[in-house]
Amino acid sequence: MSEKSLDTIIAQAGNHLDGKKAVALPLYFSSNYRHDSLAEAKNFDPHRGYTYSRLATPNRRALEETMARLEKGTAAFAVSSGMAAIQLALSILKTGDQLISLDDLYGGDFRYFRCLHDHAGVDFDQLDGQSIDDLVAKVSEKTKLVWLETPSNPMMKKVDIQAVATAVHEKNPQTLVAVDNTFYTPVYQQPLTLGADIVVHSATKYLSGHNDLLGGILVCKDPDLAAKYYEYHITTGDTLDSFDSWLLLRSLKTLTVRVERHTSNAQQVVKYLQGEPRVSKVLYPGKGGIISFYLKDEDDVEKILNNVKVITFAESLGGIESLITIPFYQTHADVELDQRQRLGITPRLLRLSVGLEDPTDLVNDLKQALGK
Ligand SMILES: *Cc1c(COP(=O)(O)O)cnc(C)c1O
Repeated sequence: MSEKSLDTIIAQAGNHLDGKKAVALPLYFSSNYRHDSLAEAKNFDPHRGYTYSRLATPNRRALEETMARLEKGTAAFAVSSGMAAIQLALSILKTGDQLISLDDLYGGDFRYFRCLHDHAGVDFDQLDGQSIDDLVAKVSEKTKLVWLETPSNPMMKKVDIQAVATAVHEKNPQTLVAVDNTFYTPVYQQPLTLGADIVVHSATKYLSGHNDLLGGILVCKDPDLAAKYYEYHITTGDTLDSFDSWLLLRSLKTLTVRVERHTSNAQQVVKYLQGEPRVSKVLYPGKGGIISFYLKDEDDVEKILNNVKVITFAESLGGIESLITIPFYQTHADVELDQRQRLGITPRLLRLSVGLEDPTDLVNDLKQALGK
């Protein structure tokens, strides 16, 4: 049978798997599973059955199989946070290997890439800008991984995944291209179909979408690479527990309708911001729920953050509830000051994650916060 479309996969994710014929997948709280006999234990297939929950649980497996299908990969791994997914992705790097990234990334990435450099001797090279030619010029024999985030956080820059993957693989076929797909989700972008080798998500954001859990997902294409990640994942044990796996799978079922509404709401807020004289610039890639914008006056930044009532002044993004944050002091505080300046991450830049409230209420909230 041909593969179903994304909406059909998510609507029925995990259903009809339970031995007791439950339609939705029940939540399994058990750290271990019983063997029928010595013969069964000897022939045990860890990719199908269950023994010990670090290796697999029914809820985590259903989630991982769903994510592999949504991202069109061979295998997916559910971990305890987005950063843990990034750590799993980079677990294949050895001392002397080179990692290249673009200049605008989630703040925690830089901290982790620096750790890998300082503690493990991984050669981390960051591009000054987003030029594909400059990126490819840096790719050498030593380049194990190229790290992309598109659209980027918080500057909303877009990268042509297909062009980068083609050019990088032409220069060095061994180099892997990884994409952080947190902002667009598989609804808008499936990097593996565009030539990338690895996709990661902070599932804390749109995939779970309700501001109530922390999780991460890695999906990859090559079965040999998947085997390496599988061994590392089940051995180190940074696995998503059954409850959060159950919650995340449940949330995934509404991914498309949520993401589409996030987009239409954000488009209305963008319209207001573009006509607001106190706003000097709006960064929005055309779809998705995240908007970054600059205020002309730093006092207006404080007015907004102190006075919003419908929108919440809090970190994170991608949930049903609208959140606003100031990357300079919050998500990107650990990025070197000169780099923040170069990227345009200033104290006048705000990042708004548009939720599923009525967009008129969101616009009115921003207006009243600005004192109008
Ligand atoms: C939040 C985020 C991360 C980190 O994920 P956590 O779940 O907070 O560990 C990574 N990449 C992007 C783009 C993010 O927004």
